Amino acid sequence: MQFSDLNLIDPLLRAVAAEGYETPTPIQQKGIPPILAGHDLLACAQTGTGKTAAFALPMLQRLAAAPVEGRARPIRALVLTPTRELAAQIGDSFTAYGRHLGLRNTVIFGGVGKSAQIGALRRGVEVLVATPGRLLDLAADGVMQLGRLEILVLDEADRMLDMGFIHDVRRVIALLPQQRQTLFFSATMPPDVQELAERILVKPERIAV
Ligand code: AMP
Repeated sequence: MQFSDLNLIDPLLRAVAAEGYETPTPIQQKGIPPILAGHDLLACAQTGTGKTAAFALPMLQRLAAAPVEGRARPIRALVLTPTRELAAQIGDSFTAYGRHLGLRNTVIFGGVGKSAQIGALRRGVEVLVATPGRLLDLAADGVMQLGRLEILVLDEADRMLDMGFIHDVRRVIALLPQQRQTLFFSATMPPDVQELAERILVKPERIAV
């Protein structure tokens, strides 16, 4: 299978080629079609399998296919991830894959000053990549509106729960519209992870690699 068999638009195929990717990995082959079709997804996958592109490419395509009118850039997609390193990598991936699309992303995480992150949010971004604590912190400061959110990704859900973020994750989800597409990625599916997935996913496609 080739990337061109996955119904991805030309700007994304060009970006993928520029990254040097020749063929989609198994998680990309299995994950991209249901995400493009708008389904929720429950994916059992480790880091290193190409899972970032598996969610980022179809997300970018869906956002590009339905542009928001006007000058404002509401936050349309949120990726929650446990660590600043993962957040930074995912943000870089959205920048690389979306380079021909004109959609903005930014990354927010704790342990550094808030002002640059607030500035980026005020300028407007369609895609926000965040660790849960800093997201709640900035939401409480009133510097972001999440009411127009269309797509939520929980990345490394098992690690987020291991790190004690379950309450933060629940609080973030409570800020989001109920009508949305939710993509749930976890390397393992212990009972607490399964329970969270069941609570927030609607008729998900299930894949494992
Ligand atoms: P991830 O699992 O998303 O952290 O990706 C692991 C690594 O695989 C990253 O360095 C990606 O740039 C790379 N990668 C993702 N998809 C592909 C692909 N289809 N072909 C080759 N490398 C890829």
